Amino acid sequence: FGHEQVSPEEKTRRVRGVFSSVAASYDVMNDLMSGGQHRLWKDRFVRLVRPRAGEAILDMAGGTGDIAFRMARRGARVTVSDINPEMLAVGRERAKARAIEGLDWSEQNAERLTFADRSFDAYTIAFGIRNVTDIPAALKEAHRVLKTGGRFYCLEFSQTRWPGFATLYETYSRRIVPKIGKVVAKDEDSYRYLIESIERFPDMAAFARMIEAAGFARVKAEPILGGLVAIHSGWKI
Ligand code: SAM
Repeated sequence: FGHEQVSPEEKTRRVRGVFSSVAASYDVMNDLMSGGQHRLWKDRFVRLVRPRAGEAILDMAGGTGDIAFRMARRGARVTVSDINPEMLAVGRERAKARAIEGLDWSEQNAERLTFADRSFDAYTIAFGIRNVTDIPAALKEAHRVLKTGGRFYCLEFSQTRWPGFATLYETYSRRIVPKIGKVVAKDEDSYRYLIESIERFPDMAAFARMIEAAGFARVKAEPILGGLVAIHSGWKI
């Protein structure tokens, strides 16, 4: 699965398996693995999206709702979409417990959305795109479902340009993350897959070109921690 050759259908099936396995411990694991940092990255991401009251936003690969909740609190109408029903089920429970309103939930594959053309004011995807088998297809779909003037935002791991930090992070992610996964999520292999998918993902410039190729204009990439994480954005004009 990591470096093994598998068909696109098989890859999508296995990714679904990874998230079914980690759904229950997903939120705790994020805090543990990032030392709580992912909350700050998500806050920053949503500040950049600037959701406004009444806007229709599609949060793709929305999982357990971290991004969607932040946007709904600002009054946006958010459709949380994910290929994995277990992740969405955890999200629904969390939304209920926190009494967050303005959310719709929809099981979707990012590569083939069932939404009509020009349905949304903004499209967000956080730590989701690298799990998608056919990324160009997902970017095209993002472009299709956005209204003219709509915004695209992607938060994803990338490669840090700080040399010492890069080495430190590599050791941490390859040696320690799978062990945390083993103890907490009882699933070392899924976390090994997640780290490998980060290492295989295109760098900031290459990913920006893919977004442009899908038809987006004014594409920007904003590095966090030297590019360990990056926010890409673009406009449908
Ligand atoms: N956005 C959430 C967050 O930031 O906490 C969840 C991110 S989680 C790391 C990645 C999510 O992508 C999982 O919930 C997974 O089910 C979803 N996913 C993977 N492949 C997908 C696809 N082809 N279409 C839609 N969602 C997908």
